[in-house]
Amino acid sequence: MALISCPECGKHISDKAEKCVGCGFQIHKNHNHSQIVYHTENHQAGKANDSQGSSLLLWIVGVLIVGFAFVFFLYKTGNLGIKHDYPASVTQNFMNMCATNGGNQEICSCVLDKIQRKYTFEEFTVIEAKMSLGQQMPDEFLGFVAECKQRKNY
Ligand SMILES: [Zn+2]
Repeated sequence: MALISCPECGKHISDKAEKCVGCGFQIHKNHNHSQIVYHTENHQAGKANDSQGSSLLLWIVGVLIVGFAFVFFLYKTGNLGIKHDYPASVTQNFMNMCATNGGNQEICSCVLDKIQRKYTFEEFTVIEAKMSLGQQMPDEFLGFVAECKQRKNY
């Protein structure tokens, strides 16, 4: 059993039906073969378009996934060079905290720069909470301090 469109109202009905359930149009008396063929071809053309559309979509999704994976890899390995934005009050607070820990302006901004490249603000606030609590540099930041001191030959 195949579905055809009623030539009168366009409703999809069985080709075995004698008349349209929608409008009562006499199918078998009036329909001609070409209308059914036309309808079937139209249906297949629609299917072909659909599969073309979904393979294009798959392709786009694939490219996006590969792109994101690549950017994520660069980000995780620290090669992207993205400096995360922290609110000014937070960076100022860090600089003060760093100074009370005996760091000078140059070392402190060097460390802050490294932190901003490695940690998002959300990650930073978690580590910073430890810093406020213990009043000293968390281990996560001490490595940066060492790197900065080495670079500046202090
Ligand atoms: Zn009809």
